[in-house]
Amino acid sequence: MHELSIACSIVETVEENLPNENSRATKIYLKIGKMSGVVKDALLFSFDIATQDTRVFGATLEIEELPIIVYCEKCHKNSELGNPPIFRCEHCGELTGNLIQGKEMELVSIEVEDGKATNS
Ligand SMILES: [Zn+2]
Repeated sequence: MHELSIACSIVETVEENLPNENSRATKIYLKIGKMSGVVKDALLFSFDIATQDTRVFGATLEIEELPIIVYCEKCHKNSELGNPPIFRCEHCGELTGNLIQGKEMELVSIEVEDGKATNS
């Protein structure tokens, strides 16, 4: 399951970004494109496994799925593709493979709680 290795690398990145030894991640925001090949549910499941015995354990993983968007060179418009994606401009019908969004996998932000009880 390749989601597990993705989940592990997310956990690794998050741990590297924690400010100090006592900090824990509480929430992680991730954006994944619908063409990234990452299955959201599988990633959520893998995340639970990957966070065991880490300072990310117990954190919530929020995933925003980005639609697939292509750009049409003929009419210079963007089209959002459905599921399954058909690479055709929705405005003029031209076939297009100019993907401008849909393959990303981006760690947007991490909410951190540090050891001290000063954070509300
Ligand atoms: Zn077009």
